[in-house]
Amino acid sequence: TLDVIEGPLMNGMNRVGDLFGEGQMFLPQVVKSARVMKKSVAHLLPYLEAEGDGAVQAAGKVLLATVKGDVHDIGKNIVGVVLQCNNYEVIDLGVMVPMGQILQKAVEEQVDVIGLSGLITPSLDEMRRVTQEMTRLGLDIPLLIGGATTSKVHTAVKLSPEYNNVVYVPDASRAVGVVASLLGEKKSVSLQHYRGEYETIRDKRARGTRRPLCDLTRARNNKLEIDFELEPPVEPSQTGIWTISISVDELIPYIDWTPFFQTWQLAGPFPAILKDPVVGAQATDLWNDAQAMLIQVKEQNWCKPMARFGIQRAYRKGDDIVVQSEEGDVVFQCLRQQNQKLHTPNLCLADFLAPEEIGDWLGGFCVTVGPASDHQAQSFIDSGDDYNAILLQALSDRLAEAAAEFLHQLVRTTYWGYSDESEMSMEGLIKEEYQGIRPAPGYPACPDHSQKPTLFKWLDIEGSLGVQLTESMAMLPTSSVSGWYFAHPKTRYFGVGKISMEQVQDYSERTKCSLEEALKWLGVALEEEPSPSKKSVCRTGCCPDK
Ligand code: SAH
Repeated sequence: TLDVIEGPLMNGMNRVGDLFGEGQMFLPQVVKSARVMKKSVAHLLPYLEAEGDGAVQAAGKVLLATVKGDVHDIGKNIVGVVLQCNNYEVIDLGVMVPMGQILQKAVEEQVDVIGLSGLITPSLDEMRRVTQEMTRLGLDIPLLIGGATTSKVHTAVKLSPEYNNVVYVPDASRAVGVVASLLGEKKSVSLQHYRGEYETIRDKRARGTRRPLCDLTRARNNKLEIDFELEPPVEPSQTGIWTISISVDELIPYIDWTPFFQTWQLAGPFPAILKDPVVGAQATDLWNDAQAMLIQVKEQNWCKPMARFGIQRAYRKGDDIVVQSEEGDVVFQCLRQQNQKLHTPNLCLADFLAPEEIGDWLGGFCVTVGPASDHQAQSFIDSGDDYNAILLQALSDRLAEAAAEFLHQLVRTTYWGYSDESEMSMEGLIKEEYQGIRPAPGYPACPDHSQKPTLFKWLDIEGSLGVQLTESMAMLPTSSVSGWYFAHPKTRYFGVGKISMEQVQDYSERTKCSLEEALKWLGVALEEEPSPSKKSVCRTGCCPDK
């Protein structure tokens, strides 16, 4: 039995691994092949145990985890599969894993490498704590860093000085090469090499000059001045707070498919990608599987999209937004751009609202596909079917984004009711060719995730939809989107960019929290800090450093 596994099965997988490494095979095929391998091994395992002729020799042992407070794991799951295809034993601890558990397991299992994943900016801090703890414990296990907000510069500047053995992995296809370089005799030379690389990055940054930011008063004096006489606030046809459910069928036309293919590392705009000379066949197969999965999603109720949203009177007060809710005032603290500008304003979301004496309105929303999708993805994983797990996760994310797009249009055309979009095409929607924006906390116009609890409380999002926030302000169920609605014609997406300590201080006074607490949430935006990767956050092209 061992011969079957180590012979044809393993040879097959090695070939898949090689072809993927050479760019001749694509991720969906790799994940599917891994499923054949896993299912076969699961089938053979009882015989193997009965024969008692030893265990399969793995190339190495890798522990993977998404850090505490973070919930997204498509990328980590992909890395796990790709490593398994290359004959590595993978121990995947899942999402929201506390540091103690990661390190204890790593030591217990004597793993060769640990891989950490994180999607949202607070996870960068959690990764830093892990590196500090590893040094404190005197560990020397190589630590891989990956996930949407992580970056090489962040790894070099914030993590490498804390722990000597960190390595940044830009995407899943590199994981195998990096892990291979960290085993056996190559380990110390490779680590030396990575350290050198990070040191160079640090030196370069230390030598480089940044344009100084302007002070907060000056930035505020250069705010966006909307002439509300000329362009008055957009009066909604009704105010209130509502909950609706949306059918998957209604959402399908609103799906932006291009990011779906990106998740599977197939690059190119949809629908042209289906006919692409290089990835077309793969993309078409994947597309067919996605359509089949969507039917199952509907029949099995794996996604039950729900939305909670509201529109209420609000006004701007300095850089704050005050919502006049029935239960009293709800205050959002916004951040202002501080880069030096000559001819354009230093923007802040609050600028889009009129002051109290004129009066205005703000909307808020949260959409979710519900908890069933996360559970079903986990049961796919438990049965060794990573392909369907990743497919379902990717589709659930698409449906959540589609729900955000659908709801925004519904609000613009009916609830707020300021635009007639009978002529609007799906392409127009994806290109955001409409009046108004729906910025999300944690994204460039509001990099501060800690505004989410206020949003959630205002609209009773947890009570009405069951969506919860983790300690890092990630939303659970994973496929959920939340944000605000601004309706004025002058609104647009922008990135706050870097801010000064002065603004952090000011923010801590406005939010009545300690400076330490303010730094915890805004630290990544500080001028001297390395920027998080924009991969996860800016998809609208509003950020110059995208
Ligand atoms: N159609 C795409 C959506 C792209 S961006 C998809 O399906 O993935 C979608 C959302 O990201 C925006 O509607 C907004 O909620 C958020 N967003 C993008 N850029 C932002 C910015 N600069 N500030 C705040 N939110 C932003």
